[in-house]
Amino acid sequence: MANAPKPVSATILLSHTHWDHIQGFPFFAPLFIPGNSFTVCAPEGANSSLREVLSGQMEFTYFPVELSQLGASITYRDLTEGTHDIDGVRVSAQLLNHPATALGYRVEADGVVLVYLCDHEPYWESLWDSGAEPGKLESILHEQDRRHAAFMQNADVVIHDSQYTPEEYPGKKNWGHSTWSYVTGIAAAAGVKRLFLTHHDPAHDDAFLDRMEASSRDLATSLGSPVEISGAREGLTATFGGDKETLKAALPDTGHIGSLLVLIVDDDEDLRILASKALTRAGHRVFEAADGEEGLRLIENLHPDLVVLDLSMPGIDGFEVLRRLRAAEATSTLPVIVLTAHGDEESARASFELGATDFLAKPFTPPQLDARVRSCFAHRLPAST
Ligand SMILES: [Zn+2]
Ligand SMILES: [Zn+2]
Repeated sequence: MANAPKPVSATILLSHTHWDHIQGFPFFAPLFIPGNSFTVCAPEGANSSLREVLSGQMEFTYFPVELSQLGASITYRDLTEGTHDIDGVRVSAQLLNHPATALGYRVEADGVVLVYLCDHEPYWESLWDSGAEPGKLESILHEQDRRHAAFMQNADVVIHDSQYTPEEYPGKKNWGHSTWSYVTGIAAAAGVKRLFLTHHDPAHDDAFLDRMEASSRDLATSLGSPVEISGAREGLTATFGGDKETLKAALPDTGHIGSLLVLIVDDDEDLRILASKALTRAGHRVFEAADGEEGLRLIENLHPDLVVLDLSMPGIDGFEVLRRLRAAEATSTLPVIVLTAHGDEESARASFELGATDFLAKPFTPPQLDARVRSCFAHRLPAST
């Protein structure tokens, strides 16, 4: 609402109308603004019209505002399998394997392909033909699973139902949800570039989900697939398009970060002492380098989690250090906070152009520095983990 051109005109794609997919609808603030307009799309074939389903959950017994009282103008559209042109965006829809009629969506826009596949269950319990080499499209045993894989083929981003572990699945068969191993295997076979695991089970806590994410990554590696895998989590924002890809974690996540290995590269001894004290007190392990050359040597030997880098130093200056870090594969995504007395725009711009993660002008307070360190570490691209 803050950034969009006003009034907002948009399309909402619903996979189906089970509760967990529509309960956010009455809380979606843009629906309350007169002048905004929305088209809500969902698979045809529900027992009642889409409008009746959405208004049913907003009846007075359940919710204080009825659908007809919303300020925005809302139209409804039933979708079937096939390719649709929606506001100039190519949207393909394909049926999923779920107790209720559900559609998966493949959205192609701005040179990026994003595929959303919730809720979905494997068509066949074993993904691979036992006689074939796993990880290939042609090794998929069931024709419908192969079709499901083809729907996400070569996608930049896939967001997929992966509610269960393979161990839990036999007890949840026909509930309409996938396992992380099915999703990982099918995404690997389809040549997907980035996979987000989602539709988490309410009974799984964060530690459990972390283990599922790790298992999924291990499986992808053993299948020889370069697909990058992340568990979707609250506050995670990913941006794709052009040559830019960013992934930002919400601030609450940064609280879970424990002790980091931080290297401070600065020729000013007073500043090194101040920053070192601040970060040590915050629980990090801190090393110091007095110039660029020493900094680069320590980065190579210590493999720090994050670098705090001064700009003007004798010999190799901060800009040159940054340039060399970004040119080397091992340090291309290493979080680097530029900490400098030069708080001018040009230094900031030049730093970001060279790949700085953050730019902090002196003076700073110890909690400020710690917050920036945690935030930069959390916002690093998962590729570096
Ligand atoms: Zn469902
Ligand atoms: Zn669901």
